[in-house]
Amino acid sequence: MLPCWCWANKSRRGRNHLRQSTLSQCIVDSIPNFTVREGGKEGGWEMETELKEILGDLESLERSLPDASPHASIDKLRSRVMHLSELAKFAPVRRSKVKDMSAEVVDSNPYSRLMALQRMGIVENYERIREYSVAIVGIGGVGSVAAEMLTRCGVGRLLLYDYDKVELANMNRLFFRPEQVGMTKTDAAVQTLSDINPDVVLESYTFNITTLQGFETFISSLKNKSFHPDKEGSGVDLVLSCVDNYEARMVVNQACNELNQTWMESGVSEDAVSGHIQLLIPGETACFACAPPLVVASGIDERTLKREGVCAASLPTTMGVVAGLLVQNTLKFLLKFGHVSPYLGYNSLKDYFPTMEMRPNPQCANAACLERQKEYMLVKPARDAAAKAKMEAEAPFAAECPLHVDNEWNISVVDDNDTKQTDAASSDALPKGLTRELPSADEFQNAPTSGSAYIDDLEDLRKQLDALNSF
Ligand SMILES: [Zn+2]
Repeated sequence: MLPCWCWANKSRRGRNHLRQSTLSQCIVDSIPNFTVREGGKEGGWEMETELKEILGDLESLERSLPDASPHASIDKLRSRVMHLSELAKFAPVRRSKVKDMSAEVVDSNPYSRLMALQRMGIVENYERIREYSVAIVGIGGVGSVAAEMLTRCGVGRLLLYDYDKVELANMNRLFFRPEQVGMTKTDAAVQTLSDINPDVVLESYTFNITTLQGFETFISSLKNKSFHPDKEGSGVDLVLSCVDNYEARMVVNQACNELNQTWMESGVSEDAVSGHIQLLIPGETACFACAPPLVVASGIDERTLKREGVCAASLPTTMGVVAGLLVQNTLKFLLKFGHVSPYLGYNSLKDYFPTMEMRPNPQCANAACLERQKEYMLVKPARDAAAKAKMEAEAPFAAECPLHVDNEWNISVVDDNDTKQTDAASSDALPKGLTRELPSADEFQNAPTSGSAYIDDLEDLRKQLDALNSF
């Protein structure tokens, strides 16, 4: 109860001892109790009801006072409570949790548009997204937007890692708001994301993963299986690295190599006009220590980036594009549809998206990477055979299967092969006055330096990227 004399505890000191400061303090002390709780509109109504009760109490108090001198103060408090009642009408309203994802097409269903992916045959079982845990390291310009996208998509659990606070200098990017300045990025993110989708389990980790203690806590939080006890491997399904420095990337790389944890790396260049995403499967693809992408792509040593006193540029556009590409590939990876890009670059000046694949480096300096490479080589023959058998089993079915069937939305699906043929036929016929500035995908694939779809040698890769950058 309230700690001082008030209308709820009138007998403690007696009515004649009422002083204006005491009464004001009672009102102030009682306000924090009116938090808007989860449960839709109920929270706002509860606050309005309590404020109405205070008004009633004020009236009783006024009537019970033998002396009329405090009436002016009571009137003042009454008008303040009425003002709060007005504000309460606009208090944030949180929706209730949804037990099962429904495909019902009604305006009140937060998942109807997402479940439509399943109905239209893009995703086999969209609701499985609720079983997945994704860790996002770095809640900055890319990580915060990625977190919001995954929250809106209804991912099961998000683990958010950052040690920094929100600053006004972050307002050129998406997600954070000026009133959150001074809050830790993880707490501000949890505040916003829990309002957007209360179904997502949010975990906030505010520490620096590059310290010894931070690294240990990072590893143990990734191993925690309380959300999905039956899950194989670690406690998360994917780690997204959205950090802005070399050291933190190497730490994420070390943790994921040790845990045999698949992860995706993302980055935006210091001049804010290009970026990349990369899929890293320990042992199967190059790890970050095998060939750091930014170093490879730009010839810049990442350790020289983020220098003290040097202000890197950033654009909400480039960061939004990179976050979009990152989460799009996350959805494809988790829900098993489409093709997950092993590496996808983005050059905003030319709207150019180079792709490539990188095999692990047998001379990688990371011992855990070499361990994972050995393990992968042992299971590879069996995996290749299973993939081949699956492809052969599906091939006759694919030939018999109609391209699309009639549907209630009158949407038709175009065969990719037809598109390719059309593209090929028209690729050489640019409209008059236009010249081709960038190489076509075919020219890139057939470039003399590439030879195969994989790039085994770092030197070859550098040469190829230099050639691309010179266009
Ligand atoms: Zn490696």
